[in-house]
Amino acid sequence: MKLMQNCSICSRDGVNNFNYIELEINESGVYELICSRGHTTTVLSHDEKFEILFDIGALALMDGNLIQSVASISASVERFHEFCIRTFLQKRGVDITVVDRMWKQVKNMSERQLGAFYFSYINEFNRNPPIIDNKQISFRNNVIHKGYIPKYREVYDYTKEMFDYIQDLLQQIKGDEYFKSYMEVALEREKVRCKDVKVENEFIGVRFARMATLTDLARGKQNFDEKFKFMKKEITLTKSM
Ligand SMILES: [Zn+2]
Repeated sequence: MKLMQNCSICSRDGVNNFNYIELEINESGVYELICSRGHTTTVLSHDEKFEILFDIGALALMDGNLIQSVASISASVERFHEFCIRTFLQKRGVDITVVDRMWKQVKNMSERQLGAFYFSYINEFNRNPPIIDNKQISFRNNVIHKGYIPKYREVYDYTKEMFDYIQDLLQQIKGDEYFKSYMEVALEREKVRCKDVKVENEFIGVRFARMATLTDLARGKQNFDEKFKFMKKEITLTKSM
């Protein structure tokens, strides 16, 4: 996956050096970049897991890797539910260690996580949450568990529905009160991430950056058909550089 990143050491020297860098997206969220002038910097991904997974799923769809696309988008929705639960609990002032301890009990059980999300949502908004269409749930299960080989159109429609589902929910938790909560959740995660980074150079060599800028789910309500066309153009451009 190619991403555009600027070099913070070049910036310090007064040079705007933006590079398209081929990166293998990883689980740790820690990336070492070497700019065109040879500086090495460490970048910590500032993205939520669900954002990264959605980008991977969208890229897989573009490349025609349809089963991988369904797997990534479906994992993105599950991590998005976790993100919502953690944000709601943070807003209520629940200690993160209490949440982590409970999460361990459900971490391998996606149905229980979904149930937790439904009732956290009701507790938060005093109304029923949006429910994913049964047709899409069956489609996902057929692909992931029964070896069904999907058609491009089916995966496109699935991705589009999940894109709208996440975006609609994000609109509901975008206000200032939630912003503070999910920034706190993100900071806790990044504290853990920072422990894994060996800072051998000066501080300027380490920075936070957003990697999942392709679908850009946090941007606000977007039309998926237009977004997908735009993404295709962007990817074609970066591949040629
Ligand atoms: Zn540089």
